[in-house]
Amino acid sequence: MNDQLPKAILLDMDDTILAYDQGVDTDGCWRKSIQDHLAGENNVNPEDLLLRIKERASWHWSDPERHRVGRLDLYKARQEIIGAALMKFNIDDQALAGNIARTYGEERDKAVSLFPNAIETIRDLRSRGLKLALLTNGNAKPQWEKIRKFGLAPFFDCILVEGEFGIGKPDERIYFHAVKALDVRPEDTWMVGDNYQWEIVAPQRIGIKGIWIDHKGQGIPSKAEDQPYRIIRALPELTSILKEIPECD
Ligand SMILES: [Mg+2]
Repeated sequence: MNDQLPKAILLDMDDTILAYDQGVDTDGCWRKSIQDHLAGENNVNPEDLLLRIKERASWHWSDPERHRVGRLDLYKARQEIIGAALMKFNIDDQALAGNIARTYGEERDKAVSLFPNAIETIRDLRSRGLKLALLTNGNAKPQWEKIRKFGLAPFFDCILVEGEFGIGKPDERIYFHAVKALDVRPEDTWMVGDNYQWEIVAPQRIGIKGIWIDHKGQGIPSKAEDQPYRIIRALPELTSILKEIPECD
């Protein structure tokens, strides 16, 4: 393998630096929000509703375009998902769906945390003189709230948030913009993240090397045509990869 130290690294945020889905009890967040608002609907078993919500959510987020629109307005997407799930019980109540969606959003936000040693790893990358960019999809407001809450901004030379930049991963323009902003070539750049399409397939198409975070050690998706440059289980393993590569300048 043609190993060379990178000059820049592009990092994903959710489930790369921050535990957003991974390790978060999302079922618990749903149960709390259902319990808070479903009191008047005695004929609905909360566990049955949870099942229907999860079915609908899985359908909703499986389509790239629905995903793109939905992640830019999570409240609305969740309201639609819950509304459709409630309809399975013949309940047509957008206000109820909205209330459950709001509480669920609050519970999810409270549950977000830094992965162990994520900040120490980012600090290490900086101390090696690497240029860093943060590329995160989603609406600008919640994404920036997380960036501020966890003090991430000072570590990055460039921060691109989909809702603010107007384009998100896997659109090639966002990776091109990042490498241009960092003044590096794609081949001298690594992209690190947990989404195979957004952080491996798309950036590798333009010459960036993709490092995939496979949290559960499940292996690359069976239909994947592209191999990532490296696979890691968690962000701190980046340091070991960098240590393995000899400096050749
Ligand atoms: Mg991610």
